[in-house]
Amino acid sequence: NSNERLQKVIAQSGITSRRKAEKLIEDGKVKVNGQVIKTLGTKVSQDDKIEVEGVPLEKEEPVYFMLYKPRGVISSVKDDKNRKVVTDFLPEVTQRIYPIGRLDYDTSGLLLLTNDGEFANLIMHPSYEIDKVYVAKTKGIPEREDLQKLKKGVTVDGDKLKAAHVKLLSADTRKNTAIIQLVLHEGKNRQVRRMMEAINFPVDKLKRERYGFLTLQGLNPGESRELTPHEVKQLR
Ligand code: URA
Repeated sequence: NSNERLQKVIAQSGITSRRKAEKLIEDGKVKVNGQVIKTLGTKVSQDDKIEVEGVPLEKEEPVYFMLYKPRGVISSVKDDKNRKVVTDFLPEVTQRIYPIGRLDYDTSGLLLLTNDGEFANLIMHPSYEIDKVYVAKTKGIPEREDLQKLKKGVTVDGDKLKAAHVKLLSADTRKNTAIIQLVLHEGKNRQVRRMMEAINFPVDKLKRERYGFLTLQGLNPGESRELTPHEVKQLR
């Protein structure tokens, strides 16, 4: 979701205004990956090499944020229906930041955001095995055998979904609900909800409490903070 219009990217690098960037593009003075691009609005990503009048565009200063995403917010940088998006909760920065992975609209919890595409790809990769710790409130109270199935892996729509650890934290027999902790190393679409549905204990509420060693400590829903350089280094 990091694609942006070429003229915007040039303007955001600080070398010129949006208007002048458009003129440079139309005049054939801008190259993307070695090719002259004259079409305004051409979409470019982090990985594209942009040159303006033969000079490579400086890479943006990398920034890293953690957000306590509230429920009812989209894990995206803009929404065509004008719903709230996660970047609405961050301080204004000149960089183009975007979420590392996503949390569902109705899911709350820890979300990382950055403009560092390499870092995002690295830590999202399943082989990296970063713990993503979720707490789910379920309808119904699963037995140990039910939860065991999640550790073996369940197949949903052809996707094999697996939990690294699962445990029952508490159960309310009167309301017939349970609180389950799941640790995932993968980040497939709606993974927790689909896994719990597969064993017939649908998720009512879902929160991501931890990402690797990072917790939400000190943050309220809707609040964010920058990661420290040390935290970034530890995640890599
Ligand atoms: N699993 C889900 O089902 N939803 C999320 O937002 C994250 C993990």
